[in-house]
Amino acid sequence: MADQDDPQGQSRPTEPSDLKPAPRSGRCHWCGYSLKGLADRGNCPECGTSYAPETAARLQPWPSASKICVRLGWPIAGLMLAGFIGINEGGLLMGLIIGYAMIVAVGFNSYFQVRSMLRRSLPEGIRTQGPVAIWRKIGTTVCVIILLVFVGGPFVFGVGCLILLSNFKWSN
Ligand SMILES: [Zn+2]
Repeated sequence: MADQDDPQGQSRPTEPSDLKPAPRSGRCHWCGYSLKGLADRGNCPECGTSYAPETAARLQPWPSASKICVRLGWPIAGLMLAGFIGINEGGLLMGLIIGYAMIVAVGFNSYFQVRSMLRRSLPEGIRTQGPVAIWRKIGTTVCVIILLVFVGGPFVFGVGCLILLSNFKWSN
């Protein structure tokens, strides 16, 4: 007990677990190297990036598989619901409206959910370089195409129809 109160005892090896609460995940924000057991501040032994408690706490573990399914899957569930409503007597229009809204939601939701999960859990150096960066571009492209087809498409079609109609009236 006496030596626990020793004011000079800071360099003395301490119990690793409970004296100083480690940063929540304790990883290098650039490369993801675990900083557990290292000093509060310093340079990452793996990539040399300097870290502090704030940056070490930035990366959080991935959400559980079920949470990822809920985050990404609710528009799909909504689509199934729309189909279910649509096949019922008199529900076709409502089903189509909900179905359309859910397809648009797939594009928006996937884009923002994936982006926030990557920011939260993937080290910067991995997120911005190499294969992950390529996959992010592919994913973004897919989301943009979905939105272009289902939002931009009908819009252009609608505007086109209006122009054609107004031209038609003009020529008469
Ligand atoms: Zn690092």
